[in-house]
Amino acid sequence: MPLFNPIDALLGLFSLDIGIDLGTANTLVAVRGKGIVINEPSWVAIERGSKKVLAIGAEAKEMVGRTPSNIIAIRPLRDGVISEFEVTQAMLDYFVKKAHEQSFVPFPRPRVVVGIPSGVTEVEKRAVYDATLAAGAREAYLIEEPMAAAIGVGLPIMESRGSMIVDIGGGTTEVAVFCLGGIVVSRSLRVAGDEMDEDIIHYARQKYNLLVGERTAERVKIAIGSAYPLPEEKTMLLRGRNVVTGLPEAIEVSSIEIREALAGSVGIIVDLIKETLDNTPPELIADLMETGICLAGGGSMLKGLVERIGEEAHMRTWLAPDSMTCVARGAGKVLEELDLLRQVLVSTDRRSTSAPPV
Ligand code: ADP
Ligand code: MG
Repeated sequence: MPLFNPIDALLGLFSLDIGIDLGTANTLVAVRGKGIVINEPSWVAIERGSKKVLAIGAEAKEMVGRTPSNIIAIRPLRDGVISEFEVTQAMLDYFVKKAHEQSFVPFPRPRVVVGIPSGVTEVEKRAVYDATLAAGAREAYLIEEPMAAAIGVGLPIMESRGSMIVDIGGGTTEVAVFCLGGIVVSRSLRVAGDEMDEDIIHYARQKYNLLVGERTAERVKIAIGSAYPLPEEKTMLLRGRNVVTGLPEAIEVSSIEIREALAGSVGIIVDLIKETLDNTPPELIADLMETGICLAGGGSMLKGLVERIGEEAHMRTWLAPDSMTCVARGAGKVLEELDLLRQVLVSTDRRSTSAPPV
């Protein structure tokens, strides 16, 4: 086996290294030496009958709730799994090409690391791997999202002392404890930011007979949602349609009410963290008391979540700086130190898995 391949080395100098966070809510792309170059919603608009892809990313999200009946806007990764393979492939294709257009490198054959949720099946892993190669990647690697997030944050995952991450995204919450470059304990759950939006929709309907849209619910969550009493409670107007009269209505809701609405989902996430800690070896628990619990992902920015988890888990808890970009930055960083980090990648050996059965 040749140790040095001059063609590969040359290609490496002139082509891109890309890290992709294929999130259920947002897709981010990090390019080596440039940082995050793309940050767009994971939405795809397709034509109903022909299934033709009409728009991807921000443009597709704009169409949500406003599309004519022959166009549907979907989130192919909604629950953290690859539910729509072809659409996912189109999305990857679009983001890889776009990263290229913005980078002016001569060879359009990047090396790509894609973050995937830790709960995905072998078939789904394979699908993402194939889709990445189909999108023009010269080499493709997969990494579990909590691992990528931890690398992005700079947690000491390769060391013998333990560290822990809780990544709360749109569709999934993932909790993982690391030690010596591996995941020691992990849990994954389909309760995260989207479910909190649903909670608010449900609450408004039950309490006020008010029908509100997903995007309105998300705005309310971000503006006044919380997991712990706020230093100063707030109020906000919730606009929607009264289901009894059928007329538009605006109702003033308080942050106390929204906290009540979110209590179920927040409780489930807190319990998942406690359960993970319950299953963590005591030596590592001792380490975690020093390194603390690191929160990443958009959902972890919910007000008061850090305080709430800290109090319930009896553990120092902190929010990762720039918490929504950790996975993409981590995936990008893996390529910079590929040899060092080879062991953290998910194995999808092309030769062993794509060969036709004999
Ligand atoms: P994914 O990795 O699944 O794509 P992200 O990490 O991008 O998800 O997080 C998206 C989720 O974070 C959405 O549910 C969004 O509503 C939520 N979110 C973003 N900002 C905030 C905030 N300030 N407070 C609460 N939730 C937030
Ligand atoms: Mg994510």
